[in-house]
Amino acid sequence: MLPTTLGEIARQAGGTLRGRPDWPQVWEVCTDSRKAVVGSLFVALKGPRFDGHDHVLAALGKGAVAALVTRGRIPAGQPGAYVEVDDSLVAMGRLAGAYRGRLTARIVGITGSNGKTTTKEMLSAICMAVGSTIRSPKSYNNNIGLPLTCFHLGEYTKYGVLEMGANAPGELSALAAIARPDVAVVTNIGRAHLGGFGGTLAHVAAAKGELVEAVARRGGIVILNGDDPNSRPLFERTKGAARVVRFLQAQEGELEGLPGIRGRHNVMNALAAVAAAEALGIPRAKALAALAAYEPPPMRLEETEVAGVRLVNDAYNANPDSMKASLEWLASQPGRKVACLGEMLELGKASEALHREAGQAALQAGVSLLVCVGEAGRRIAEGYGKAAVLAADAAEAGALLAARARKGDVVLFKASRGTALERAFEACRTELEKA
Ligand code: ADP
Repeated sequence: MLPTTLGEIARQAGGTLRGRPDWPQVWEVCTDSRKAVVGSLFVALKGPRFDGHDHVLAALGKGAVAALVTRGRIPAGQPGAYVEVDDSLVAMGRLAGAYRGRLTARIVGITGSNGKTTTKEMLSAICMAVGSTIRSPKSYNNNIGLPLTCFHLGEYTKYGVLEMGANAPGELSALAAIARPDVAVVTNIGRAHLGGFGGTLAHVAAAKGELVEAVARRGGIVILNGDDPNSRPLFERTKGAARVVRFLQAQEGELEGLPGIRGRHNVMNALAAVAAAEALGIPRAKALAALAAYEPPPMRLEETEVAGVRLVNDAYNANPDSMKASLEWLASQPGRKVACLGEMLELGKASEALHREAGQAALQAGVSLLVCVGEAGRRIAEGYGKAAVLAADAAEAGALLAARARKGDVVLFKASRGTALERAFEACRTELEKA
């Protein structure tokens, strides 16, 4: 972060400075008191489990210059320097927005129902080959992770690749107002987080459109999925854009021979990344060359081979569309196809029907051994129609699979993050290694 005086911080955050700091400036912003370092501003946030206001002294003790706190939370007379604001989370967003105004980096905002992190990683791999690049760590894509990532960008950073998530209307508008991206990417519109969006794809599209609109209005470049019918409404929100680019499955041939790009869904993510790179002025050939060295983030079709069995951990997350995409990939693989599938969360009323659909997709993919986990697994088994194995939990599923797997099999593990289905993958791997 570029050094910023506490006076400026108080002004930008709309707060008041209280107490006298050891240093007049901060060089870093943190929200975890354990990670506070000399020169940082500790932002005290109140979460569902922890309240940063209880850890202010710990942060100051580690060298934080001051703490940004919600007014009324720090007792009078407590030592330390504070910037007091109405709401520390909102104030952190404001600070990040003001900070963004000091940067010359070109910024890309990536949203969508599926493939945000993967596209972000692919685009960063491309940008890093060309110039100094800062990307969102992991999947830091919300109103905490996004501002924190902005502070990582420096004076000479050339590219900022930011992931932006949304679980409800208005959230992307807020993130776009902070990061003010030059380029917007929407990977696709699908059935993720349907619950929070009023239950329809039109609602999801309307929310993702907030980013498109914000970038277009400022004369930026918008990159949309030309094959996704659900993304169509987004094209109507591109007024003012310097350019609207669509990426299409038909361009797949360009990616031939790139080892890290596995499955149709990752082809689409890669095409989105290449289009975004071009929007940044990076030639296509350079982008493709950089993608050749790309490795997928953990638990996204991550493959391990044990005793001749290919175990594919895709348990990072799942929703109806990503479930289908992964099963399609499985269908394209040689050998006997085995799947271990668990619950897709946050689907609202449509949940039962969508789990049955996933079972049908498994049948269509040629899965000949299906292990379903948990109560939702019953619905998947119903959709599959043929005999499926029901496991009470991930550990049991792993053990069952290890007992039945044969050399040459390819075994796909997939479910929503909250079910931690990677435990089935781990259990299966451990058992196979013993055997
Ligand atoms: P996000 O960040 O949007 O959650 P990730 O890139 O982390 O997406 O991928 C999570 C899961 O979503 C992957 O394991 C994969 O199954 C699926 N996925 C990724 N990209 C796509 C896509 N373009 N279309 C459908 N499913 C996808």
